[in-house]
Amino acid sequence: MGSKQASFYESVQRNFDKAAALTNLPKGLLAQIRACNSVYQMRFPVKIGNKYEVIEAYRVQHSHHRSPTKGGIRFSSHVNQEEVMALASLMTYKCAIVDVPFGGAKGGVKVSPRGYSPEELERITRRYTVELIRKNFIGPSVDVPAPDYGTGPREMAWILDTYMTFNPREIDAAGCVTGKPVNQNGIRGRTEATGRGVFYAVREFFSYKEDMKKLGIEPGLEGKTMVIQGLGNVGSYTGTISQKEGGVRVIGVSEIEGTIVSDTNIDIEKLLRYRKQKGTILGFPGTKTLKDRKDWVKIECDILVPAALESQLHKDNAKFVKARVIAEAANGPVTADAEAILLKKGCIIIPDMYCNAGGVTVSYFEWLKNLSHMRFGRMEKRFNQNSRTMLLDKIETMTGKTITKRDRSIIAKGADEVDLVRSGLEETMVTAYANIREISKRKRSVKDMRTAAFLSALEKVANDYMTLGVFP
Ligand code: GLU
Repeated sequence: MGSKQASFYESVQRNFDKAAALTNLPKGLLAQIRACNSVYQMRFPVKIGNKYEVIEAYRVQHSHHRSPTKGGIRFSSHVNQEEVMALASLMTYKCAIVDVPFGGAKGGVKVSPRGYSPEELERITRRYTVELIRKNFIGPSVDVPAPDYGTGPREMAWILDTYMTFNPREIDAAGCVTGKPVNQNGIRGRTEATGRGVFYAVREFFSYKEDMKKLGIEPGLEGKTMVIQGLGNVGSYTGTISQKEGGVRVIGVSEIEGTIVSDTNIDIEKLLRYRKQKGTILGFPGTKTLKDRKDWVKIECDILVPAALESQLHKDNAKFVKARVIAEAANGPVTADAEAILLKKGCIIIPDMYCNAGGVTVSYFEWLKNLSHMRFGRMEKRFNQNSRTMLLDKIETMTGKTITKRDRSIIAKGADEVDLVRSGLEETMVTAYANIREISKRKRSVKDMRTAAFLSALEKVANDYMTLGVFP
């Protein structure tokens, strides 16, 4: 290891400054956007076995330019205040980029979920929620948590139940947290949303023929090779959806137990089943294991997808990267130092604040569903189905030809909740990409996609502050 690595928070701030320098926004306004507005650090006791453990936890609200604030809760032994501040900041920019009308926030509880039983995790989650309620750091109009690294629908259900216990008459209580189980006020399509969003982001990048020509890249996703680091929720859905809907070949997967590679295509669905059975990805048929797990960075591929934690590509390993495109499925996987090295090498980085925004986008849909107290598609599904059926009948009588049963069911199908969620997500990712691309084209001084994404966010957040009259 060489000199000190830039911390995650430093990296976020440095990236912010790089973009801010290209705007004409007043210095005070930029300083307000950059700062974390509220940082709540807590310590609470939880009974584990027959002893009490003092749990360290945080909730950071980075920006109140819109309400509520929004962002996941992380359970990890690496949690610290700066990390949560970095993640909360990213949430503000992320929401702005995809036009999700929230401020940014993030929570962290310094525990390793593997070290606790489900009952203990439940006690920790409920107690954390009570701390948030006490300080007015949670509520459908205040601050809305969601899953992140180490948490999922189960934890969100505990949070909702605790919140409802303390707010029994609040009609919109279900909107106090997103990423809930579907049968407990959740929404279909939320679990896969971040991975699906990564797929749309990558697909959009490769879809612009003139951009690809300039970069000397063959347009289109079909047949492109991908390496995934981290087979958690985000990594696994990015892999399966990219394979099934994009024709991508996954040629490498890295996890805690090691890194596997293949000359053909690692079927991620099968790999997940294999891992569930054997407890490891190693030995999966048709793959070889690399000697050094960390060598995932060195695998030659078209798209490298870091889908685990922050600072995975740093100044000491960035030089080994052979991929042309890095899709940041995780938050902050590339440090600012690594980014400088990678950009010099001609790598294109699809930045986290755009690339993984699919999760919060569908969280927004879930929150809207909770506030409307109605499932998407309920009002219009049958109506659309019936009018399309009538149209098909008419076509049949006019042409004298029969439309097959299969074609009928495809054409006449009214949209279910999950269809609407997916199309809303696709629309969001496509529009946001076009916006970032337009900024890169308009501003000659913008040399990388992260800076363009930051500019897109800064324009919108600054505009909100001006509308609020805080900065005339
Ligand atoms: N934790 C996810 C993220 O980092 C989702 C946040 C949310 O849905 O609020 O974007």
